Amino acid sequence: MTLEEARAKVEDWLVKTSLYEEVAGSDVSDCHHAIQALILRAKPFDAHCVECKRAATFKPDLDDEQRGMVLHGTPEYVKQYCLRQNLFTVTATCARSAAHRMQFVFRHHPGRGVQKIGQYPSIADLSIPETSQFVKVLGQDRVRELNKAIGLATHGVGVGSYIYLRRIFESLVEDAHKEAAGEGEEGDDEFNDWDEDAYKRARMDERITMLKDYLPKFLVEHPQLYGILSKHLHELSENDCLQNFDAMKEAILIIARDKLKAHEEKEQRATTAKLLQKIGSTMKS
Ligand SMILES: [Zn+2]
Repeated sequence: MTLEEARAKVEDWLVKTSLYEEVAGSDVSDCHHAIQALILRAKPFDAHCVECKRAATFKPDLDDEQRGMVLHGTPEYVKQYCLRQNLFTVTATCARSAAHRMQFVFRHHPGRGVQKIGQYPSIADLSIPETSQFVKVLGQDRVRELNKAIGLATHGVGVGSYIYLRRIFESLVEDAHKEAAGEGEEGDDEFNDWDEDAYKRARMDERITMLKDYLPKFLVEHPQLYGILSKHLHELSENDCLQNFDAMKEAILIIARDKLKAHEEKEQRATTAKLLQKIGSTMKS
């Protein structure tokens, strides 16, 4: 890993990398570049500020020694300085207030690598804004489970996080199923082609195809997003679950975004209808 490559990864290491995950292996030059990119980097990055409660720009802090190193350090001196760091903290400050700070702790085990060992606020807290907007359409319980899943995955708990995601995903599919079956009941039998028995017998991927009119098109067209769902729990390893985490989470968010859009559209129409009614009654009087 070159220094440039390390610098390109810093933002992810800070905001996305799970605790206890390695950012560099045993290679000394990898460790040097990772540490240098982490501690001698003043490039700002965007993240959710838990104090401002919205997205903010964070600027990593440098102490006097580090500032001197950036300005005057020779490459060899900088390298020795970096490799001497055993336990180091990267602190970053919110552009809106110097009191809003994030901290990230890394451990360098010479000859063995560099790993992330601490962070405040937690990755789960940083991803809550992404999910909290969906309370209206997913409900408090499902959003809470989604946050729990994200929290578990960031701590490397694969199967546990997967179970939460699966629960949410299946309940969303069940919502669509109720809608499809409900419309079937109301409709004229001649035009109703909903086959409840076939649905009950179907596997999850087949069910999604059957519900294609009630689920986001994107989801129906990309079965790999939920492909893992057709497997039994005992067939999956911790790693299978972690590797599929992002795809599963995305599948859920796609449904959530669609629902939110429909919800907002409905709200807007209701507001407009009310407005028109008001205008109508004013004109009459
Ligand atoms: Zn802030």
